[in-house]
Amino acid sequence: MTEVRMERMSWVEYRRRIDAAEPVVFLPCGSLEQHGPHLPLGVDALLSTAVACEAARRTGGIVAPALSYGYKSQPRCGGGQHFPGTTSLDGDHLSQLARDVIREFARHGVRKLALIDGHYENQWFLIEGIDLALRDLGHDCGLRVLRTEYWDFCTEDVLREVSPDGFPGFALEHAAVIETSLMLHFHPELVRPDLIPDDDAANFPPYDLYPPETERVPASGVLSSARGATAAKGEHLAEVVCSGLADAVRVAFDPP
Ligand SMILES: [Zn+2]
Repeated sequence: MTEVRMERMSWVEYRRRIDAAEPVVFLPCGSLEQHGPHLPLGVDALLSTAVACEAARRTGGIVAPALSYGYKSQPRCGGGQHFPGTTSLDGDHLSQLARDVIREFARHGVRKLALIDGHYENQWFLIEGIDLALRDLGHDCGLRVLRTEYWDFCTEDVLREVSPDGFPGFALEHAAVIETSLMLHFHPELVRPDLIPDDDAANFPPYDLYPPETERVPASGVLSSARGATAAKGEHLAEVVCSGLADAVRVAFDPP
């Protein structure tokens, strides 16, 4: 199988691949954040990397090492900053990190870059990093950047299948059925199904208070139940997401 991971290539091989085919370079973006007692802290980077690798295999792309730290965990979508292990960046630092690496990829001759975000809180800081990098480079630099959250490729059909009792929404899908099922598919050795908590979905008001009301967050850190997670659901989710992402980069970068 052709190698897709940039960190496993020599610079000579990397340059050959960039020069030969103008490949899409995928940059996974994650976090180091609690994901309940049954999933590891690195879920967001592990999943965005796994999805990016599969899309890269289907499109002749390259996957750069993930940005593995993310913006601060928010109670209503990630449980919040009060959990041990959750280790986050100030927003400006994440933007500058993204800005720096995007500028470096442009220097290598990369013309198609896809940021695959696996941590919702990163969104606007990654967008800022893209904007600043393109401003540094000049908008006629030839680099185009696609940015997405991988779960946006989930179709209504697959969400109905995964959550037959009703989909709780992506904000409450933290350490819940989608992430747990995808981890059972991509990294089963890192999942502890026996530790999936019995908590019901968190019930947040439609606003945030600062300092955060940590008592509203389930003690487990899981925002809606992961009990329905299975490897089979993860396999189907992965296929829908990876094929959707592969199609999207083809259409975005090489329109017919
Ligand atoms: Zn996550």
